[in-house]
Amino acid sequence: MTHPEHTAASSDSAAPRRRPLAPDTARLEARSARAWTEPMAVRPLGGGCYAVDGASGATYTVALPDGDCDCPDRRFRGERCKHLRRVAVEVTEGRVPPPGQRRGRCAGCRREAFVPEDGPAVCGDCWVERGDRATDRETGDSVVVYRLTDETAAERAVPAADCTVADYPANDGYPDDDPVVEVVYPFDGAPDADLDDRRRYAFPLSRLVIPAEGPAV
Ligand SMILES: [Zn+2]
Ligand SMILES: [Zn+2]
Repeated sequence: MTHPEHTAASSDSAAPRRRPLAPDTARLEARSARAWTEPMAVRPLGGGCYAVDGASGATYTVALPDGDCDCPDRRFRGERCKHLRRVAVEVTEGRVPPPGQRRGRCAGCRREAFVPEDGPAVCGDCWVERGDRATDRETGDSVVVYRLTDETAAERAVPAADCTVADYPANDGYPDDDPVVEVVYPFDGAPDADLDDRRRYAFPLSRLVIPAEGPAV
């Protein structure tokens, strides 16, 4: 008789792979094991740098993109120290933002998330890029994203209407601090016209419904 767990594992390829939550520290080299197990606090400083408060009371600065740390182990012995390894682990586990991102409130979904240090404060789920399809909540029209800007609806002028995107009547219910997305209409102009040659319209981000990632239908 087949063991039920084996049946489940072999018949359901979508089942998540079982794995331990932390590595087996007995099999890691000493510096990696200490990176995982020693009490440390990692604080993002921006620009790819992180302050690491170690168990000894000392604080060191890790520059992750350069793979550098100002502790003696790194400076004098040239080792990939436990501080560097700890920051890498915390970034991989999503505990601290990766270089180039910071913790903030997403201007799209309004949740706490990692958002870019520069540019619009938009999380990975709400981020839109050139060519993405979206739907206008007000009209149901399909639109194509031209670009996500770093202007808010209150900052962006609509010259034709002599007002801002935020003050534009159809945008009444959307926050003034929504980032502005420029979109084009797929059936505006020649069918094979490039996005650059189509007329662009400025929308508050949350007026657009962005379909979840997946195959186009
Ligand atoms: Zn170090
Ligand atoms: Zn979001």
